[in-house]
Amino acid sequence: DKDITSDETLGKAIPSKSEKTGSGSVNEEKIKIGFSMDTLLEERWLKDKELFKKAVENLGAEVEILAANGDDSLQIAQAETLIQNKVDLLVVVPHNAEAMAAIVKKAHSAGIKVMAYDRLVKNADLDMYVSFDNEKVGELQARAITKLVPNGKYVYIGGAETDNNAHLFKKGVFRVLQPFIDKGVITVVYDQWSKDWTPANAFINMESALKANNNEIHAVIAANDATAGGVIQALEAKGLAGKIPVAGQDAELAGVQRIVRGTQVMTVYKPIQALSEKAAELAVKMAKGKTVKTERKINNGKIEVPSVLLSPIAVDKGNIDKTIIKDGFHSKSDVYQNQ
Ligand code: BGC
Repeated sequence: DKDITSDETLGKAIPSKSEKTGSGSVNEEKIKIGFSMDTLLEERWLKDKELFKKAVENLGAEVEILAANGDDSLQIAQAETLIQNKVDLLVVVPHNAEAMAAIVKKAHSAGIKVMAYDRLVKNADLDMYVSFDNEKVGELQARAITKLVPNGKYVYIGGAETDNNAHLFKKGVFRVLQPFIDKGVITVVYDQWSKDWTPANAFINMESALKANNNEIHAVIAANDATAGGVIQALEAKGLAGKIPVAGQDAELAGVQRIVRGTQVMTVYKPIQALSEKAAELAVKMAKGKTVKTERKINNGKIEVPSVLLSPIAVDKGNIDKTIIKDGFHSKSDVYQNQ
């Protein structure tokens, strides 16, 4: 009798053990998200890093973050490390839209889904894309500038050609400019990418634009506030800062201060808190194996990627307080510090 009983006990122990492994209830392991970032050398990405970390942790998960400071092979190596560290899902801000496709493949062979954050990964079986409406960013810039300068010579200082967003921003700008160009009232006299989005490269571009046109330029659209900073430095050197309207993007503190000072006319504010919270929410859901439905799909050259695109907001002198400051993106004292 006794033997049979012990046998039965043993028999019962086996299925309950496998049940535990199956449900994960024994090792209540935290979901771990990997965040592979291009760079932390710009103000916005520091915000993204902090806010994304907070958002993931608020959902009871954890995050491992690595940043490659603009180095493609380092970013690939770091993403491989995150895969080896067995993250449950990989979130990527690619430095190079094409190069990171290899990582999507690697992650998938390890059973890990991949989300592109802010910047699309091209030609890959990407699982999710969370960003802003980036063509709209360019449209907002061009609409604001054409209102101020409906005719004349325009300069476009683009972002990094390797970043898909740079192409989307430019597309939005030229969509708005095209009717003016067709009518012959606006001429784009200079149009160049700025390698790695650096102010130094934008400065060199702006110097060439000024030289080629004997300083006769009426408006500048720069792809972001970092490049706008380089543009304005080049204008300052010629005594033209504040005389030629310049548009930027990101609502970086320096950019907003320039708007207050009058050397830049507008920026595009993208609420990063909303972006990071949306990305964290979807990342944790997907990491738990839940299916996520999105309203939009964006073609990345290979597939239609399920996407969430948030709305950017045009900001000029008139609405700094009720956007950037109201949201706590920057403090009033920081923005108006030199007034
Ligand atoms: C982002 C911009 C940023 C730029 C340079 C783009 O992909 O959308 O917000 O200014 O990269 O880092």
